[in-house]
Amino acid sequence: MGYSVAIDGPAGAGKSTIAKQIAKKMNFIYVDTGAMYRAMALFFIRNHVGADEKEKIETVCKEAKITIEYRDGEQVVLLDGENVNGLIRTEEVGNMASATSVNREVRKKLVSLQQELAKSAEVIMDGRDIGTCVLPEADVKVYLTADARVRAKRRFDELAAKGETCDIDKIEADIIDRDYRDMNREISPLKQAEDAVLVDTSCMNIEEVVETIMELIRKDREA
Ligand code: C5P
Repeated sequence: MGYSVAIDGPAGAGKSTIAKQIAKKMNFIYVDTGAMYRAMALFFIRNHVGADEKEKIETVCKEAKITIEYRDGEQVVLLDGENVNGLIRTEEVGNMASATSVNREVRKKLVSLQQELAKSAEVIMDGRDIGTCVLPEADVKVYLTADARVRAKRRFDELAAKGETCDIDKIEADIIDRDYRDMNREISPLKQAEDAVLVDTSCMNIEEVVETIMELIRKDREA
């Protein structure tokens, strides 16, 4: 196992923005595990599998060929060899990912892919169960969170910047729904690992959050 940093937290807490910046500064590989659940969700949507069709999900997920590559330092998710990065950032795919990530077979497949990636490299990995399940021995664990309204506003700005029309109240309701599902599912629910440091970003800007986590990493490496 290489050096590893685990960042967990609810939707829109800023995990990927922060993890990407730290990866660049510290020369770590950034692993976005949500993108894998999203690619799997896209595969279900394409195959007309409904979010509540448990048996179909378990059969179909075994057929999905999800691989990860790094191009110019960016994580690229390939679904059957096709780069799907540009197709998985929609609310539809996000909600489907949340609904289907409760499935044991889906998690088994993606967790082993994630653990494989962390074996040979220094990684900063973000998700929901990284500190609790994927990398329980991670060197630094952070639980990143913020108020639901603040997170909704960030998602809203992100989508608006891409020219997608959206309703902030609907986004907030979706976020609350998604958090509820992620925190209350039976298998590896979203929760703060006992040894994770809680960072509430409601009133922090990106640089402050990056600096806070970098300081945790520096201290750990000096110890
Ligand atoms: O982080 P992101 O919004 O891209 O994740 C999409 C969904 O994938 C989450 O709502 C969650 O249900 C699921 N997920 C998960 N475990 C992870 C990462 C994401 O269950 N490690």
